[in-house]
Amino acid sequence: MALTGIQILKMIPKKNCGECGIPTCLAFAMKVAAGQTEIGECPYVSDDVKNQIGEASAPPIRTVKLGEADKTFVMGGETCLYRHEKRFENPTGIGVLVTTSMGDADVTGRIERFNSLRYERVGVEMKADIIAVKDADNDQAAFIALVKRVLDGAADAKLVLISDTVAHLAAAAKECGARKPLLFGATLDNVTDLTAVAKDVDCPVGVKGTNIDNTIEITEKLMASGLKDLVIDTGARTMRAALEDNIVARKAAVNKKYKPLGFSTITFPCEMTDDPLMEAMVASVLIAKYAGIVILSDLQGDILFPLFLERLNIFTDPQRPMVVQEDVYSINGPGENAPVLITCNFSLTYFIVSGEIEGSKVPSWLLIKDTEGLSVLTAWAAGKFGADMISQFIKKSGIEDKIKHRDLIIPGYLASMKGELEEELPGWTITIGPREAGHLPAFLKEWKPAA
Ligand code: SF4
Repeated sequence: MALTGIQILKMIPKKNCGECGIPTCLAFAMKVAAGQTEIGECPYVSDDVKNQIGEASAPPIRTVKLGEADKTFVMGGETCLYRHEKRFENPTGIGVLVTTSMGDADVTGRIERFNSLRYERVGVEMKADIIAVKDADNDQAAFIALVKRVLDGAADAKLVLISDTVAHLAAAAKECGARKPLLFGATLDNVTDLTAVAKDVDCPVGVKGTNIDNTIEITEKLMASGLKDLVIDTGARTMRAALEDNIVARKAAVNKKYKPLGFSTITFPCEMTDDPLMEAMVASVLIAKYAGIVILSDLQGDILFPLFLERLNIFTDPQRPMVVQEDVYSINGPGENAPVLITCNFSLTYFIVSGEIEGSKVPSWLLIKDTEGLSVLTAWAAGKFGADMISQFIKKSGIEDKIKHRDLIIPGYLASMKGELEEELPGWTITIGPREAGHLPAFLKEWKPAA
């Protein structure tokens, strides 16, 4: 059973030194109990206590890492069923399948698309994470050659190695070296041999069940042998079955603390349909409902981009607005006669406004005021974007040293603030900008500093 903050506090040295980054031991203990920080962040806790607390406060879905130590893909660590209860921790890994039975061009195309289909949204890079390499012909030499090709061709891909032959998995895992792959998959028949290999190469294991009961049998054997880093495939190969199994596993782990199902799932939309659009729909359902990994048959921009966006939305912390830093941002190389605009620090606002300014090609200064992630009107209504606060920010921002004019463009939605702001900022002229960011390019091209 999970420990409370008070129980954890009793087990840690109460130095209140702040070295864990949290000012008091009580606050630290509360955060550990809530799963918001790791007990290992306190340098004064003994290994014994670390183990005790670590086990007791471990999330119901085990955290498992793939890849090199400093560039891991992390899955699991989940603690709730619904995002609004807290947040979802680690985004679903999106992967593509390559197999030894594919032609050269098919493999090359998938690796190239893995590398090139990358997008930026609100400052976050959206990309695929995983390449699943399948020993489709049960041919060790061909399997190793394909693994090497992926390792060389996709430097930041995390690997899932799929083979029915444990010796092939062992050889391929050794090729991967520090880029720890997921070894897939453990069955009742090979569980002993695969356990030995996983321990030898120190890699996580994928459970290849035929149904949920069979999956539990395998995870219980792996756990009894001391393996902890597992990922489960219940064998479901229809959308409905995979969705049901994902929900059953998450509910059993979170609500009942049922350890044999307390693992991320790996799902294979690539094996559920031959229709690319249907495959995308299956993947989108499984991303929404608990898949740790989805493996696609190919990567295409028109299918990937919506999946990336869905993933970004679902795995954004609903209790913490996405923000950018309060600062003066220079866009398109502004000089002393460039326009000065101000807006809030809600990420989406910043990226939309800065994108429009960039697109206009008009050199500009963009002032971003900290509004705690609230959008313009909400921040104004909450008293975080008022004339007094804007004027204080303007004075301390240093913008007055960068420009000759004194003309500030405010968001169109704050037109009513013009008079008050001119009183707060003597010597400045306040210009009301457009209400919609999309109108900024035309506005900026016409803009002249007030005489
Ligand atoms: S580092 Fe440890 S002892 Fe120091 S405040 Fe944090 S929890 Fe307390």
